[in-house]
Amino acid sequence: MMGLIHSVEETARQRPDSIAYVFEDVAVSYREFVEKFHRAAGALESHGIRKGDHVALILGNSPAFLIGYYAVMKQGAIAIPINPTYTPDELGYILMNGDVKGILGIAPLVEAAKERLIHLPHLAVVVSVPFNGQVGPEEQLGTVQFTTLERWLEIEHPIEEVTYEMDETAVILYTSGTTGKPKGAMLSHRNLTSNARSIGEYLNVSEQDRTLAVLPMFHVFCLTVVVNASLAHGAAIIIASRFSPQETFELAKKEQVTIFAGVPTMYNFLLQTVKAHPEYTSAFESIRLFVSGGASLPVPLLQAFDETFNCHILEGYGLSEASPVTCFNPLDGVQKPGSIGPSIVNVENKVVDELGQEVPVGQVGELIVRGPNIMTGYYKMPEETQATLKEGWLYTGDLARQDEDGYFYIVDRKKDMIIVGGYNVYPREVEEVLYQHPKVVEAAVIGVPDEEMGEAVKAFVVVREPLTESEIMDFCAISLAKYKCPTRIEFIDQLPRNTTGKILRTVLKKQPTNS
Ligand code: AMP
Repeated sequence: MMGLIHSVEETARQRPDSIAYVFEDVAVSYREFVEKFHRAAGALESHGIRKGDHVALILGNSPAFLIGYYAVMKQGAIAIPINPTYTPDELGYILMNGDVKGILGIAPLVEAAKERLIHLPHLAVVVSVPFNGQVGPEEQLGTVQFTTLERWLEIEHPIEEVTYEMDETAVILYTSGTTGKPKGAMLSHRNLTSNARSIGEYLNVSEQDRTLAVLPMFHVFCLTVVVNASLAHGAAIIIASRFSPQETFELAKKEQVTIFAGVPTMYNFLLQTVKAHPEYTSAFESIRLFVSGGASLPVPLLQAFDETFNCHILEGYGLSEASPVTCFNPLDGVQKPGSIGPSIVNVENKVVDELGQEVPVGQVGELIVRGPNIMTGYYKMPEETQATLKEGWLYTGDLARQDEDGYFYIVDRKKDMIIVGGYNVYPREVEEVLYQHPKVVEAAVIGVPDEEMGEAVKAFVVVREPLTESEIMDFCAISLAKYKCPTRIEFIDQLPRNTTGKILRTVLKKQPTNS
């Protein structure tokens, strides 16, 4: 199988002037893209980054992300994409657990975290990427070299052709789990390449396509379905640095986008905006394909969107541990609203009971998955790996059923994960922060339906002394990204628990809501 790097290099040889990506009106060809990431790979090497070393990409959607990501893979090193809106505590945990040797991060974040970063035991180089007018530090602190993107890309250093096996790790994606601490899903070159190819072929992605990258590149949905699938099939990526409905309409029209990938919340915002501004109805005329994933797409939303834009959103399903896609509604063939579709090429999905036995059609059980896209394990967490990967099958923790045509339907999440606008929030992580407040006795967090964001984070809190809602919210904002902070708070006398002391979330979910 030709890996991701090789297929991009091959496109650069065969069709050097084809556009690889467009950012802020500047189009970069495949030939230029290859030149850029080769140069960056040389710069990494000049800082001692070698095959197998870990490099964090703490960046928003930008050319720097694409160049950094492909340079790291070119080197046979391992990329760890991280959400740049994480708080220092959240980042610190991942950087430490992930044994990072290099960082490419947005300048304000690097500047703010400089003093903490130098204590990371393996760190050798930090490259700041300009952001909001800031360019970042240029100095040596302890054993760490801080440099700016511009300086860094001036480095002339020949690259050695690194060889690596397809089963070696290319990316580690941190995803939260039941322990509350994020776990690093190790994805190999084979995992990523096979999924990018399967999904690209399933959706017929070609060099004619211009795919809008408005989902965050640090998340696996965008990383595979937009970035890798487009680059592996010679398509162009239209980079949007943030999501705003108006800007999305304008960019899609200006750049003649043909593929749009989004989470249900985005579809909702786009639909609400077009209701207020009907002049945008024609903005998506060039788009031949809309895909949705990351959370379930409500059928009324799907239907209203399809009617308004005279299109059909294809819903799929995936998770970080599967690189991510396992199911998708077909492009040509029957599309069933409310379903995540049948298994994609090369991937098997099965619904099983508590004993791992397949259940009959129509019955609900846990969705398990097998294929070349399944992670090799969690980084430095053998027990968690064993609990998730059994006899070659990945246990997704999602409850599903299958119909007689082989289409799957996600019923509920076995795990208690909350999805706020496509972002995952794990109750335990929020609870641990709440427990740190001196006036909080105990706390439990659940997801409640929210019209705008799909779900909202609701905290049930038992206090020892009076405390206001806003004091709790401000406290959470110190250590949690904004989307993880509770937006609804209910004070109660005690938490419902079962006899073994486990909090009964099902009882909390049935509580009448106060907001
Ligand atoms: P992540 O690892 O961040 O990609 O999150 C994966 C989780 O998102 C899955 O385990 C599901 O719970 C959820 N998910 C993804 N796609 C869908 C979908 N189409 N419908 C319902 N849940 C989904």
